Amino acid sequence: MMVSAKEMLQKAVAGHYAVGQFNINNLEWTKAILQAAEECKSPVILGVSEGAGKYMTGFKTVEAMVEAMVEEMGITVPVATHLDHGSYDGCKKCIEAGFTSIMFDGSKYPIEENVAKTKELIEICREKGMSLEAEVGAIGGEEDGVVGQGECADPNECKMIADLGVDMLAAGIGNIHGKYPENWAGLSFETLDAIQKLTGDMPLVLHGGTGIPDDMIKKAIDLGVAKINVNTECQLVFADATRKYVEAGKDLEGKGFDPRKLLKPGAEAIVAKVKEKMELFGSVGKA
Ligand SMILES: [Zn+2]
Repeated sequence: MMVSAKEMLQKAVAGHYAVGQFNINNLEWTKAILQAAEECKSPVILGVSEGAGKYMTGFKTVEAMVEAMVEEMGITVPVATHLDHGSYDGCKKCIEAGFTSIMFDGSKYPIEENVAKTKELIEICREKGMSLEAEVGAIGGEEDGVVGQGECADPNECKMIADLGVDMLAAGIGNIHGKYPENWAGLSFETLDAIQKLTGDMPLVLHGGTGIPDDMIKKAIDLGVAKINVNTECQLVFADATRKYVEAGKDLEGKGFDPRKLLKPGAEAIVAKVKEKMELFGSVGKA
């Protein structure tokens, strides 16, 4: 069932668990994540970056594929299609394509312009029954040269953006995208606690879920995190399983070169990883 992320995240806040956003790249990815969600009876958010959207030939293709898969696979759990780190233009395209949720990443704009654009998009989302995620501050990554500690958002700025009427709020609490460096200082629970105290029951979003220790994830959920983004981890297990298949020479045995066989171990690895995350986040059985 295609839905916005609003209700599933409000339920997650009330029930003290988190819903996973798993980013998709192609048909295999989407199918694997939907299968895992259905088997776990868990709500799920399918994240689509602008790059992945382009790779799949456009957001219309993505939305049409997801909607058709939900129907053909008989998926009964709540599913949201969500633009990840959307630009203003990307948000407009996803609204037109029929996505159920968007993230507007206005962190590159001065705060006044970020607020104005966020307000405009909130209006459209309300009309269409979509949900909107906003980001406060910037969430760095290794590629941006951030080492040791990611940025921490200003709790007052979080409160200001939350009050605009967004449905979920991403704030930096020392988390970063991609693999975490050896000397990472960990999540700043002090910042998270301060943000939560000011924003109340606003669902908070944790980006860069790959490599954060399980105990920190659980503590973050206790402190109001209701959506956790997972991307790199699925890519790593997919690549690893595919490499093992090829290195074992299985593509050279019989019809092992058939893409349906070649991509199967990777897809199965994604199913297992997504299920493991749903267990950790506490969303199993919450659909
Ligand atoms: Zn992110």
